[in-house]
Amino acid sequence: GKSAAVAKVMDVQLAIDFLRYMAGWATKIEGSTVETSMPLMPNDQFHGFVRREAVGVVGAIVAWNFPLLLACWKLGPALATGCTVVLKPADETPLTALKLAELIEEAGYPAGVFNVITGTGLNAGAALSRHPGVDKLTFTGSTEVGKLIGKAAMDNMTRVTLELGGKSPTIVMPDANLQEAAAGAATAIFFNQGQVCCAGSRLYVHRKHFDNVVADIAGIANGMKLGSGLDPSVQMGPLISAKQQDRVTGYIELGRELGATIACGGEGFGPGYFVKPTVIVDVDQRHRLVQEEIFGPVLVAMPFDDLDEVIGMANDNPYGLGASIWSNDLGAVHRMIPRIKSGSVWVNCHSALDPALPFGGYKMSGVGREMGAAAIEHYTELKSVLIKL
Ligand code: NAD
Repeated sequence: GKSAAVAKVMDVQLAIDFLRYMAGWATKIEGSTVETSMPLMPNDQFHGFVRREAVGVVGAIVAWNFPLLLACWKLGPALATGCTVVLKPADETPLTALKLAELIEEAGYPAGVFNVITGTGLNAGAALSRHPGVDKLTFTGSTEVGKLIGKAAMDNMTRVTLELGGKSPTIVMPDANLQEAAAGAATAIFFNQGQVCCAGSRLYVHRKHFDNVVADIAGIANGMKLGSGLDPSVQMGPLISAKQQDRVTGYIELGRELGATIACGGEGFGPGYFVKPTVIVDVDQRHRLVQEEIFGPVLVAMPFDDLDEVIGMANDNPYGLGASIWSNDLGAVHRMIPRIKSGSVWVNCHSALDPALPFGGYKMSGVGREMGAAAIEHYTELKSVLIKL
């Protein structure tokens, strides 16, 4: 169901850009020299230094929403630091991983540097996460499975980074450019059918603009063309699977049962696993719809009255992957940034990723960071060396 156009500019192009960025790191990995004091041996001289060494064999397990890109987020730093990789793609999306393996073979990499095992999470994924020959596990997927992988890693003391789920807030402040904010909020949730870990799935708008902004987003949603991912004029394709369609429509039903109002969308349809872009209002902050990751084109929207209140609401969630603030009030924006508990904060944009900026989660959104120099740290071990002269 992924749009071919999105696959070209996102999955493929961003994977290329990221691999180029990480290739630059291969020649820039540094240790350090350390002046020692050694109080117990005051008359001896030492040369102390720290080496940064490849962690070794990396077991990578990834989700299906951006299959090639997620795989390359693991492959790039692994290759730059001199590690080898065993990749387990998602059950639903093995083909790009196999194509990548084919290209790597064609490019002449030594055999064994990059390996792919396909299969289900319960079989192939679990076996890889328990394997004592793996030195580091790197996982992108749900928090539920992330916890299992984290536990399996601890049994072998395998290094581990976890890129997990999210329920990212989009915050529209009273001074924001409302048209831009509404368009940005719509893209933040509806892009890739909402199957984006850092999708802006909770919307908080200042009360005086709430009705207008929600109406604008609903207007955008109602005007979206749904259809085949191969049609370049289509703005939203079907979800990945019947299971995912059921999950998303189940949450919409739950909203109805609990008395929420469906401002637009609100149903699945076929053939194909479509869900109409949906905006839900009249929801309580503690509602499951506001607290849990839906991973589909469903936005829950709530009004707020002041800055302290919206920071409290933004942070009142188990996840902490991303957040966006829509405002031109520099003072307010800078007061908010340090108080928001998430790995990324975007201002007047959402889900904007750069290879040089670390990406990852606070709280239930994960452990460790991908991208930037931070990724290099997560794929290396430090070795302290002391030479008595
Ligand atoms: P998932 O956790 O069900 O599966 C992810 C991967 O784990 C798949 O390859 C699957 O086969 C494997 N797996 C499943 N059970 C396993 C087990 N017991 N042991 C080992 N491996 C197992 O997630 P999903 O449904 O494929 O993807 C959606 C989730 O991924 C969402 O929660 C989304 O937020 C998250 N995600 C996070 C990021 C990020 O960078 N933080 C990026 C994309 C997706």
